[in-house]
Amino acid sequence: MARTSPTAATIIAYNVGFGDCMLLRFTYAGGARKHVLIDFGTTKWPDKFRPKSLTTVANKIADECGGTLDVVVATHRHTDHISGFAGESGKIIASLKPSVVVQPWTEKPNLAVDARGVRPPASTGSSHTTSRQFAAQLNDLHDLADQVRSQVPRLRATSGVPKTLVNQLNFLGETNLKNAEAVKALQAMGKRHVYASFGTDLRLADVLPGVEVQVLGPPTLTMSRDIASMTDTDADEFWHLAARAGGRGRSAAATVGKPIFPHARFGRMAPQEARWLIPKIDRMQADELLSLVRILDAVMNNTSLILLFNVGVTGLLFPGDAQLENWRYALHDAPNSAAIRKRLARTSVYKVGHHGSLNATPRTMLWNNFTRVGAANESERLITILSTASGKHGNEDQATEVPRKRLVTELKTKSRLYNTQDCDEKTSWWRTVDVPLR
Ligand SMILES: [Zn+2]
Repeated sequence: MARTSPTAATIIAYNVGFGDCMLLRFTYAGGARKHVLIDFGTTKWPDKFRPKSLTTVANKIADECGGTLDVVVATHRHTDHISGFAGESGKIIASLKPSVVVQPWTEKPNLAVDARGVRPPASTGSSHTTSRQFAAQLNDLHDLADQVRSQVPRLRATSGVPKTLVNQLNFLGETNLKNAEAVKALQAMGKRHVYASFGTDLRLADVLPGVEVQVLGPPTLTMSRDIASMTDTDADEFWHLAARAGGRGRSAAATVGKPIFPHARFGRMAPQEARWLIPKIDRMQADELLSLVRILDAVMNNTSLILLFNVGVTGLLFPGDAQLENWRYALHDAPNSAAIRKRLARTSVYKVGHHGSLNATPRTMLWNNFTRVGAANESERLITILSTASGKHGNEDQATEVPRKRLVTELKTKSRLYNTQDCDEKTSWWRTVDVPLR
């Protein structure tokens, strides 16, 4: 390693419940330190051992970084990754004067179709989504989330709709809100801004000496269209519905808020003998809305930055909430994917994707490729960091619960797992992970 390389690396994972907030520290000979804040948000505070508020977390970050942040990374726009950048807590983070703020290309304000590296080649034809259209669609999805959420009180008051279903609708609706204040605060922060995509050179050599940061995702639309669409047929239908619903001059509510049977509302005046049907219709509508918000949740997840920090041969992997469609380009479709897989194989630290959902840790292409998984010698074993809260997202009956039990078992048995849910001392609502540099 070069003389200017870090001599130690530490990650502090704050227990924000369902959300991510991690501070990455590099220490240099002579005691100098550099700090990278990766995400700061929550949708659900943990039930116990939690910080009192986002301000408490922000003050702790300020304390830990000694008053200066070098880099702020906001992997994607979800509430559970950026809510802390708004309000009082956001002001505290801004006062730490980060040198560089890194966000995915989809967050670039006034995204231009002809932005370098983002323009779809002419050969793709005009029927394809342009970057600007995609950004507009992402915006529409937020409106849609807002509308879905507005249905929650009505559905909650309906006897035929299970409480767990309504809770999930509310949770996913909230996660996918626009978060305009946090987005604005992030734009105002930082001496330099980078809106990155696969392969972007972040030019961090001066900011983080001896650390090479590789951007593995998201791909641009030129590279891959997977992030803008879903492979599943039903999902496709919902995507079209989503795009239509966001059309100008017609509010998302007009489409989404409508019962699937347009005359269902008249059913409220139905004769006594037909009234049993009403809760069933509401239940069907709730199911349909849930499928819809799940899809828009996944689309937004796939705009996540995937960052690999390399210090010598030590790799620290932070994939945000990226799901398979985002990962596929780096791991499979990119011209240099073989070299990327080779480099990823020796990963030392893996921030578990999307709070431990199964489709954010590609099993064959990523997990099985990590050589440190299951290493007999504990000091050689892969370190995993999981920031999550059970019982908020997905459901066990459908094997979609987050974190997914099967994955957590694998993490526990084959890696050194640091789970924010295991903050078991009343005095600490964070987990400190010392990373051996090799
Ligand atoms: Zn998340």
